[in-house]
Amino acid sequence: MGEGDVKRLIEAARAARKNAYAPYSRFAVGAAVRLTNGDVIVGANFENASYGLSLCAETVALAAANAQGRIIDVVAIAVVGGDSAPITPCGRCRQILAEAEQVAGRRIAVYCAASSGDSVVEHSIAELLPFSFGPNDLGLDPYSKS
Ligand SMILES: [Zn+2]
Repeated sequence: MGEGDVKRLIEAARAARKNAYAPYSRFAVGAAVRLTNGDVIVGANFENASYGLSLCAETVALAAANAQGRIIDVVAIAVVGGDSAPITPCGRCRQILAEAEQVAGRRIAVYCAASSGDSVVEHSIAELLPFSFGPNDLGLDPYSKS
C-alpha cells in the first residue's frame, strides 16, 4: 500500500469515528478495513449500557467485511482514536485480527493513528499479539469454506 492509500484509510477511519456510539466511555474510535481491490469498509465503536456487550470499531469493521463475504480480501486496517497519540487495538481486537489474518491467508497491516495529527504507527498482528491462538491450532483450515 502506498502512502496515499494509507492516508485515505486513516481518513476513512476518522470519518467513521464521528459515528461512534460511545456515551459511556466517551472514547470514540473509528476503523477502516482495506480490501484487495481497494474497497474500504468502516466501523465505529458501538457501546452498550451493559458495557461488556460493547463492540470495538475494529470488530465492527471486520464483521461488516465478513458480512459482505470479503473477510478473505482484507489487506489492512486503520484504527483511529484518542486525542493526539496513536491508539492500538485492545486485546480482544488483536485476537479477532489474528483470526482474520489466518482466514485471509496474508499479513494484515495495522495502521494506528490519533484523531488528529499526522502520526501513524504501523504494526503487524504478530507484533501486537505474538504466539496467538487461532483456527490453525484447532486443526482447522480457515481457507476452507466447508
Ligand atoms: Zn477492541
